[in-house]
Amino acid sequence: MRTVGIIGGGASGLAAAITAASEKTVRVFVLEHQEKAGRKLLSTGNGRCNLTNENMSPSFFRSREPEAVKTVLKCFGYEETIRFFHGLGLMTKSKNGYVYPRSAQASAVLHTLRQEAERLGVQIHTGVHVAEIRQKRGKFLIYAGGKAYDADRVLLSAGGKASPVLGSDGSGYTLAKQLGHTLVPVMPALVQLKVHSCPLAKAAGMRIDAGVRILVNGKSAAGDRGELLLTSYGISGIPVFQVSRFASGALREGKRVQAELDLLSDLSEADFFQYLICQKRNRGELPASAYLSGVFPDKLVPCLLSLSGISARRKVKEISEDKLRYLACQCKHLMLQIEADNGFDNAQVCAGGVSLKEIDCRTMQSRLVKGVYLTGELLDADGICGGYNLQWAWATGCLAGRAAAQAEEIRKVRK
Ligand SMILES: Cc1cc2nc3c(=O)[nH]c(=O)nc-3n(C[C@H](O)[C@H](O)[C@H](O)COP(=O)(O)OP(=O)(O)OC[C@H]3O[C@@H](n4cnc5c(N)ncnc54)[C@H](O)[C@@H]3O)c2cc1C
Repeated sequence: MRTVGIIGGGASGLAAAITAASEKTVRVFVLEHQEKAGRKLLSTGNGRCNLTNENMSPSFFRSREPEAVKTVLKCFGYEETIRFFHGLGLMTKSKNGYVYPRSAQASAVLHTLRQEAERLGVQIHTGVHVAEIRQKRGKFLIYAGGKAYDADRVLLSAGGKASPVLGSDGSGYTLAKQLGHTLVPVMPALVQLKVHSCPLAKAAGMRIDAGVRILVNGKSAAGDRGELLLTSYGISGIPVFQVSRFASGALREGKRVQAELDLLSDLSEADFFQYLICQKRNRGELPASAYLSGVFPDKLVPCLLSLSGISARRKVKEISEDKLRYLACQCKHLMLQIEADNGFDNAQVCAGGVSLKEIDCRTMQSRLVKGVYLTGELLDADGICGGYNLQWAWATGCLAGRAAAQAEEIRKVRK
């Protein structure tokens, strides 16, 4: 029996191992350098694991090769992911299209994958760091922890370099380059943004429904809306994650990046101005500090007043209409200077990676080295928040696992 060696026991590696082993034509082993396989999965979806999305489309992914992404999703889309997990006995539930395990526990996904891998006889070696892959007479030697592991097929499923504490430390890129692959520049995506002298820093910890627009050299590049989280260094939360890759990319090209916040996305500027005028008329004796307390979280009010040049102690009736107009404008179009993203350590995903030009996306086999398959975040494709990155991991893992195992079958039949 031939052997499939999988480097990395994360989402795509475990999906690949199960798919390959269930073909029953190959022996499968996984080399994982963390003490346990799949550790990152436990942190996904805030511990609930948003494993895919009912609303699946290539337009939710970014890559230099969008056609290749289309091919992957055509071969293994949302339905295939659901079939895969239901086939393993994991029940799922959907919340507005976002799919989670029915138990709402990420651990259920990991246990299901580990149990199935074990049932199928997949050998998972943990605490084993792969440093090199060599080709020898049509086979591969995988060097890890002073040992060489033989394999007929190799799957590179080592992830990117986002959140390295969870295992993906970027060593997959080194291994891919050893095999001759080239990389589209890698940068953090789905990450918080740091703001130069953040005027909202004192409101750190506050969450507010807001619109976020990224401007690159003054031009709109991306926008989203949702629950914004204010931090001591800048901005976070899902709408920030969704637009962050545009900021990361532009910052790396030395461009000027700003974030425009709309802190009242359900209200027009004119309506809000009228509200302020009305409040001035009816509650004029109050100090300005009490002025916006019916609209924004308490900690945010002094930040907005200070941005608009209004003293918190001033009586509301003493604030000029011009100042109120400016305050309304600040709340609708608050401009923040973005100085950096929050780095790979804090990113959920990497953009960039091994070029999909070098991969046959029906099987995930390398076009450069026969018998090598690449999966997951290591590749140049990243999805927005909402289960798209795990969908990519399951899809590429299952396609690669099946192809690696079936390649053996074809050879056997031909003999
Ligand atoms: C906090 C957080 C929350 C997230 N939440 C979601 C979510 O809810 N939904 C979603 O779709 N996506 C989410 N993601 C993204 C998603 O988890 C990843 O895109 C996905 O896990 C990538 O799968 P992968 O198999 O490519 O890599 P990984 O899951 O990172 O697995 C790679 C594995 O390879 C191992 N490895 C690396 N190098 C070596 C080596 N040299 N030798 C041996 N082993 C090695 C690593 O230890 C790791 O176990 C989240 C990410 C983070 C960090």
